Amino acid sequence: MPGVARSQAFTSARLADGFDMPVGKPDAAGYYVYRGFSPYGHLGEDWNGNGGGNTDEGDPVYSIAHGVVVFSEDYRRGWGNVVIIRHAYRENNGQINFVDSLYGHLKVRSVKVGQQVTRGQYVGTIGRGPYRMYAAHLHFEIRKDLRVGMRRDLYPKTYTTYHSPRTFLRTRRRLRLEDRLVRVPINTFLKSNPNKVFTSAIDVPKADEPTTVRPSVPEEMQEIIEEETSPEEVTPEKTKSLFEKLFGKD
Ligand SMILES: [Zn+2]
Repeated sequence: MPGVARSQAFTSARLADGFDMPVGKPDAAGYYVYRGFSPYGHLGEDWNGNGGGNTDEGDPVYSIAHGVVVFSEDYRRGWGNVVIIRHAYRENNGQINFVDSLYGHLKVRSVKVGQQVTRGQYVGTIGRGPYRMYAAHLHFEIRKDLRVGMRRDLYPKTYTTYHSPRTFLRTRRRLRLEDRLVRVPINTFLKSNPNKVFTSAIDVPKADEPTTVRPSVPEEMQEIIEEETSPEEVTPEKTKSLFEKLFGKD
């Protein structure tokens, strides 16, 4: 990769164990989507309280999954307070993927960039946008493309860039519990990395990179593994890590 890749960085985040709804935790009880996702049109969903009007103003908004906060700012311009959280999760095919969840028009933001959050963690409250220009609602997006940030104008307004939020959530409500950390790319937005926006791909860590954090092994188990493996007995099978045995990575 040429120099543009250098300014991208990584952090660690807990792998998601599933995805919840962003309001009425965990199943959106008391809320409904009054405006859905449409390519080239509305690139997210507008969630509103069943009470209508501004009855949901100030209601809590929750992180849909474990992740790390990559944006938290009053962006104004029709957006107001925005929080974006980056999530790592394992797809059915075994690959680790990443998505950004965006929470817009917030009245209050309660998380800051770089902060680790867990599924269901309070991240802010439902608001009315800048200058109270809307009836209170949550504008909620899920992005596949980690470069978008606040520059939706630069990326295709299609399923190439976005998930239909409820479709994504419904199919990933519960994921296999893997209490482990994974490397997550950060500084992928235009603002933090001006060169990156026109390049084709994000550097995504491979699951088997040596820097990947392995699941913690209790100390006594580590000792037993070492005792059983004398130098004479070392075979490819014996040298496989616990992680590789569990997940079949070669
Ligand atoms: Zn909206």
